Amino acid sequence: MSKSLEFLTEALRRLPGVGPKSAQRMAFHLLQHDREGAAQLSRALYQAVDTVHHCAMCNTFSDTEVCDLCADEQRDRALLCIVETPADQMMIEQTLTWRGLYFVLMGRLSPLDGIGPKDLHLDKLVARAADGVVQEVVLATNFTNEGEATAHYISEMLKARGLKVSRLARGVPVGGELEYVDAGTIARAMLDRRSA
Ligand SMILES: [Zn+2]
Repeated sequence: MSKSLEFLTEALRRLPGVGPKSAQRMAFHLLQHDREGAAQLSRALYQAVDTVHHCAMCNTFSDTEVCDLCADEQRDRALLCIVETPADQMMIEQTLTWRGLYFVLMGRLSPLDGIGPKDLHLDKLVARAADGVVQEVVLATNFTNEGEATAHYISEMLKARGLKVSRLARGVPVGGELEYVDAGTIARAMLDRRSA
């Protein structure tokens, strides 16, 4: 087999959930049927790896030091909503109920997977929440075991620093991931948020 093809197949295996067989299928497909797509993919990857960083304020992916949302003067800087992923942030944005800013954890506490407070950069979150401007922090992590544990941990940490902390209300089903819950339910849960 071609060395380059082998190299490509190995690289594709780095994607989550892709085993040797599917990596090989993808490589064959790109080289046989979609060379233009392959070139586009390689340019996009190269560019993204080079330019995408974490926003200095909210930690989400951004091409600029501070993302557009954090830079928006219309947002209420006294309110900070904590979510697990950029997808969750987008879900809350769609509800049009939140006028504050966000902090994106880029994950959740998961001792079984070896993800502890250090891996989530919670020190960055504490520094962000304790900037003296933030008045209320809303925990909008998922209603899964890990999401709940993460919310609890962060809540204790921030309350110890005198911050007002609330949690999305129970409109979101137990075990529910925000990404898959409809906007109306999330909007309701945001409006009915309760003290954590
Ligand atoms: Zn940001």
